[in-house]
Amino acid sequence: MKIGVLALQGDFAEHIAMLKRLKVETAEVRLPEHLDGLDGLIIPGGESTTIGKLAVAYNLMEPLKLFGQRHAIWGTCAGAIFISKDVGRDQPLLSLMDIKVRRNAFGRQVDSFETDLDIPELKQATGTDAPYHAVFIRAPIIESVSGDAKVLASISDGRIVAAQQGHLLATSFHPELTNDTRFHEYFLSLAD
Ligand code: GLN
Repeated sequence: MKIGVLALQGDFAEHIAMLKRLKVETAEVRLPEHLDGLDGLIIPGGESTTIGKLAVAYNLMEPLKLFGQRHAIWGTCAGAIFISKDVGRDQPLLSLMDIKVRRNAFGRQVDSFETDLDIPELKQATGTDAPYHAVFIRAPIIESVSGDAKVLASISDGRIVAAQQGHLLATSFHPELTNDTRFHEYFLSLAD
């Protein structure tokens, strides 16, 4: 299995390191041809407006949309914004997932936080019972899911922070910044 990480901006290096820990072949994706032969793609955290502008500049928008119709894509934080259909403002989006997202929903950098999440699918897929410790940095929330998108995780006040639609995955938080490989393992099961 070979998994690409969109390497235009943001914390792609941390995702690559995580995948290497799981002994998965990786590729940094900066141009359309870098998608050839990949089984899945991760779009990292960073700044969704910057990632979008660069994706337009490198002619990646259409190739990424086509890739997502057939293959697994996981967006973390800015990546989750970028794969959504609606962010309530005008910026380049892949519009792959039927989720409505609100950027910077928890406030500024200083309002970043960590919390434990209960994610039944993750426990089931990885055969472990421990809660998932999630890191939120200027994170978006998923305001709503529609179509066949489903909620994977919510924080204690009920706000949605992870969703899945078939082989597409969106998380408001950053599994690549922890030592817990379970979310990456879960994504690999979708790419398989
Ligand atoms: N606030 C950023 C955005 O709107 C996302 C932050 C992140 O990826 N850590 O794109």
